[in-house]
Amino acid sequence: MRAVPDDRRSSGGRRGERVTLRVSRLAQRVGHSGTMAVDDRMQALRGLGHDIVSLGAGQLDFDTPAPIGEAGARAITSGQTRYTPVAGTAGLRAAVRSKFERDNRLLYAEDEVIVGAGAKNVIFHALLALVDPEDVVIVPVPCWPSYPPMVAIAGGRVVGARLDARRGYKLTVEGLVSAVAEGRGRTRGLILNSPHNPTGAVYSAEEYARIAEVVEGENLWAISDEIYEHLTYDGAFTSFATLPKMRERVVTANGVSKAFAMTGWRLGYAGGPRAVVRAMEALQSHTSGNPSSISQAAAEAALRLSLDGDPALAETRRAMFQAMLQRRELACRELASLPDVHLVRPAGAFYVFADFSRHFGRELSGKKIQGSTDLAEHLLEHAGVATVPGVVFGDDRCLRVSFATSTEELSVALQRIRKALS
Ligand code: PMP
Ligand code: GLU
Repeated sequence: MRAVPDDRRSSGGRRGERVTLRVSRLAQRVGHSGTMAVDDRMQALRGLGHDIVSLGAGQLDFDTPAPIGEAGARAITSGQTRYTPVAGTAGLRAAVRSKFERDNRLLYAEDEVIVGAGAKNVIFHALLALVDPEDVVIVPVPCWPSYPPMVAIAGGRVVGARLDARRGYKLTVEGLVSAVAEGRGRTRGLILNSPHNPTGAVYSAEEYARIAEVVEGENLWAISDEIYEHLTYDGAFTSFATLPKMRERVVTANGVSKAFAMTGWRLGYAGGPRAVVRAMEALQSHTSGNPSSISQAAAEAALRLSLDGDPALAETRRAMFQAMLQRRELACRELASLPDVHLVRPAGAFYVFADFSRHFGRELSGKKIQGSTDLAEHLLEHAGVATVPGVVFGDDRCLRVSFATSTEELSVALQRIRKALS
């Protein structure tokens, strides 16, 4: 029997006719990442010759430090171009374990760590490993826009715990307890992120200890997204799994994207309870498989050089950090001095999440500004500045302004924003 061609089965049309396949309900519901979309749009406008300064992208403008890039190049020329173990090479996993031990005082066994194609991929597999249909996962909002779709793809349901600017955009015990109750007996887990995207909030050990007590009392698991660990400017960084009794309940996700200016290499890693990490590995064996062997070699060099205290890499990273401190000052000073704009100074990451809602209702360039999307559009079209509308993070009052760009570009962009609002 001859197979029926796919197009006829799906459309009922005749062979050769144009058909439009209907995408799944899940795909329709999920949509494209709002942060990624801003960048795509910005690149397209630049391609058309527009002069755009980007304060949108969530990535450092620095190049990957040379010795790390060279390790990647060596991997290509020395034949490290084949599949590796799904959970990552033994060398990289050993480096990840040493990193967790040195920086976070977290001791993970060999089979309690995994590497994947970016923290994004690792967090997704952690959710797939932890979430059953209809399970409720608490996500503090505003949040990185990929958490809710990832929970949805895993079959779970998100309950948002609203973060308040007046409390530094930090999850409180009361906020967490009421979100757990909203889950009506189905709340299983929580996603934490410190330093936080988009608000820059950094949790102290004391604040995390109070949250850990609720996690323990309510028998929850947590995914702690620590991708901005090395961009902590004020206060000390705390890894959630180090709080009492959290080690067995927490998957700690991290990566080299922000720590070593390696976003394009797509390399993230996680440590966590053995059963969860092994489930992540099994899932990954069917989805992405091992992350790029070349990126693994580069990431291993990054972690090893950092662990060994390589003076050249240490100096490069110190310079990057100093530059970020200056940029934060500039961004906060300029944005805070704009009329009717309010912000909470970020203690980490590289974003200012500023409230522009007092400008809503105004008419700018002949168009009434109704919310953050309109304002971001206005700034892109009329000021040549890309920002991310707060609505993609779940807070329509704000714009996210990235300061991971040169002080010159940042100054130009901030002047343009001032002019566009006046
Ligand atoms: N978590 C947060 C909060 C992020 O902002 C990002 C974006 N870089 C990621 C995870 C994913 O990072 P990666 O490049 O390692 O996939
Ligand atoms: N995380 C970055 C951001 O928030 C990069 C884009 C993404 O992964 O969402 O802009």
